[in-house]
Amino acid sequence: MELLNKESIWQVRNSYLGVYVHFPYCFKKCDYCDFYSEGIGAASANDEKSLFQSYKKEILDRVNHFPEIKNRSIDTVFFGGGTPSKASAKHWKELLDFLRSEFSFSDNPEISIEVNPEDLSSDLLFEYDSIGINRVNVGVQTLEKKGLEFLGRHYDADRYHALVEVLTKSPIERVGIDLMYGIPGVSKDSFLSDLSLFLKAGLPHLSLYSLTLEKGTKYSRDVIDHKKTEPEENLQSEILIQLPEILKKYGYNWYEVSNYAKPGFESLHNLKYWTYEPYLGIGPGAHGMIAGHRYGNPRNSGLYQKKETSTKYETIDPSTELSLTLFRLFSPFRYLDFIETYLDTKSKSKYLKTIEGWEKKGLCRLEDGVFQWNPSALLLLDDLILEISL
Ligand code: SF4
Repeated sequence: MELLNKESIWQVRNSYLGVYVHFPYCFKKCDYCDFYSEGIGAASANDEKSLFQSYKKEILDRVNHFPEIKNRSIDTVFFGGGTPSKASAKHWKELLDFLRSEFSFSDNPEISIEVNPEDLSSDLLFEYDSIGINRVNVGVQTLEKKGLEFLGRHYDADRYHALVEVLTKSPIERVGIDLMYGIPGVSKDSFLSDLSLFLKAGLPHLSLYSLTLEKGTKYSRDVIDHKKTEPEENLQSEILIQLPEILKKYGYNWYEVSNYAKPGFESLHNLKYWTYEPYLGIGPGAHGMIAGHRYGNPRNSGLYQKKETSTKYETIDPSTELSLTLFRLFSPFRYLDFIETYLDTKSKSKYLKTIEGWEKKGLCRLEDGVFQWNPSALLLLDDLILEISL
């Protein structure tokens, strides 16, 4: 069995904590987006200062609710949104200082921020570097103007044209982008030509997603009203199965359904979501998972700042949770350890039986307690995950 190098075999980790902070403002609300976000144009958010104060208050409240998280070291912080690059670097620095004063940190924590193309510049990257941010991900989606128009995204031509150069000269080594495929009107060739630009630039991380129709978005209403067409699903499947081979040629590890990284450049924060590690979710619309419980914050910035931090925590069913996250990984993981650590006897035997069945069908490989999907599982993945979660 040809497993990947030992460093990328994911395992149970018990002493760390991730922190996600949601900044809910964007230049413009994109039509397909179902995150909590509000379009406010080029100006800064009126309530930026008070929002950052509320972040600090929520952090202290969550620690009060779960004092045991203080025994963990923070090894990942992720500033997401919305568009966190719209907030001032000074505020992010103060929040990082605050976290450092309240928690212990691991030796080399991953500190990430999402940046939108209209904010991206060399100066910004140098500023982030100087305040300790060491990973940047840019939501590019497509370089085609008509694709961006279809998505209802803000388009700043100069910034889009400068993207590759700014990223390749970045003082921060861990940079990546999101690209999307299956946008009606954007051909497969056009997607592959965008992709090849970033592959040749050698960016260490690439998230390659298919466009999806999410309920409640403007895009889904436009589809119902016949103003727009649905994502191109056949084209999406065609691209999805070609990507692993293409990316392999350029030296990327395919570590999650939609995520590729040069060895050692995987997103450690996102891996927490897939390997059942606890994380604090801070800010309006954020979700967190702590000590076997989940919680979610109001999707409204004003309400979030006004209301007391909710003490509503939902107990997690590890059997369902593990199936929905762990089996999205395409790099190998120590499945026996995960099962042993998190599942009760009944779920354990159900998992083992299902996994053995998959192995017999040639869908996965098992060796010394390590599981890895075969590429043939890719198009069946949703059904396979459903099978093990039931
Ligand atoms: S920029 Fe990102 S978070 Fe903001 S609306 Fe668009 S997709 Fe959503």
